[in-house]
Amino acid sequence: MAKLSIKDLDLKNKTVFIRVDFNVPLSEGGREITSDKRIRASLPTIQYALEHSAAVILASHLGRPKGKRRQDMSLAPVAVRLSELLGRPVRLAPDSVGPEVAAIRPKPGEVLLLENLRFHSEEEANDPDFSRQLASLADVYVNDAFGSAHRAHASTVGMVSQLPIAAAGLLMDKELEWLSRAVKNPERPCVALLGGAKVSDKIEIIENLIHVVDELLIGGAMAYTFLRAKNEPTGRSLVEPEKIDLARQLLEKAGEKLKLPLDHVAVREIKPGAPHEVVSRIGPDQIGVDIGPKTVEAYSALLSAAKTIIWNGPMGIFEMPPFDAGTVALAKAVADSGAVSVVGGGDSEKAIKSAGVSDKITHVSTGGGASLEFLAGFELPGVAALTDKAAKIAEP
Ligand code: AMP
Repeated sequence: MAKLSIKDLDLKNKTVFIRVDFNVPLSEGGREITSDKRIRASLPTIQYALEHSAAVILASHLGRPKGKRRQDMSLAPVAVRLSELLGRPVRLAPDSVGPEVAAIRPKPGEVLLLENLRFHSEEEANDPDFSRQLASLADVYVNDAFGSAHRAHASTVGMVSQLPIAAAGLLMDKELEWLSRAVKNPERPCVALLGGAKVSDKIEIIENLIHVVDELLIGGAMAYTFLRAKNEPTGRSLVEPEKIDLARQLLEKAGEKLKLPLDHVAVREIKPGAPHEVVSRIGPDQIGVDIGPKTVEAYSALLSAAKTIIWNGPMGIFEMPPFDAGTVALAKAVADSGAVSVVGGGDSEKAIKSAGVSDKITHVSTGGGASLEFLAGFELPGVAALTDKAAKIAEP
């Protein structure tokens, strides 16, 4: 069901509560922001609200303060950086709820950033009273925190029903648009490229994507549990023995769609600079650490024919060059395919950067866990809570 967008709202002179994801990485002691990417990602939504004469209240969590006030997890550095980026003052509230916060009423064109939501354990507990207090601050709710949309917390779910209207921010809109296009209505052929360490983390994604995609290319350590399920040798590669049966079932369900590596880069010891060789069958004392050149060629050919590509997870231990070669080569193949490409997961994003092809990827999701749940076909509670577009249209 399509959700209302901030662009559908009349924001003039309204106080809009925007749930953002300002969970930025901080230096030791919490004084400096080491990457402002997440702040920049929500700038379009904040600017849109300001340009449309709204008073803006922003709220986010930062780190894991576990319900305690911690100076090293204050949003103070975020308020400073946001103010620089917006070119206007950003006031930091002393807390996220309470009489002192309720007394600060930002005027249209003003920005108030609430202090870290997780200084209160009630946020993650989705506490009704805490939700009510948050909702009482504003007229309209907007969620731009895709990365937190898979969590049913007070600021993503609890408070939403307390306000008459709840819409997606521009970043949330973009995430939902591209992920939905890839998973629900892809242009074909649609190819998924899945890698990473564990089958167990991606079972639901594989099960869901089997019904969506035309080809499912498996790489990374995950491939070895599948190879074991086919009684192929895996040596000392990372295998999840308790998932072999499940891997066998998935192989049966997927049939020809599911492709496994044809060759491997194998070592005897995982360490930088370890001697390695390309093998089609992994020896008893060998460990597979990357897909081999034949696999790169076969997977690249399938990717170049694709019209839609969904990618999550590296093809090998890509943090340890040269075992990044397979992942980087496929990042280039994804980029060169000209397909709509939707990428989730921090590792795949890093591979895209090191391949120098970031500008050729259609959409890199900002939400790790949330994008995985979306690809697995689950409804995200933070998205489900938003007002349906149809409901707004039906209003008198
Ligand atoms: P994930 O978080 O599940 O996407 O897994 C990412 C991790 O999988 C990375 O840290 C990789 O080093 C690891 N990985 C990928 N391929 C292999 C492999 N063949 N053996 C061990 N670890 C791997």
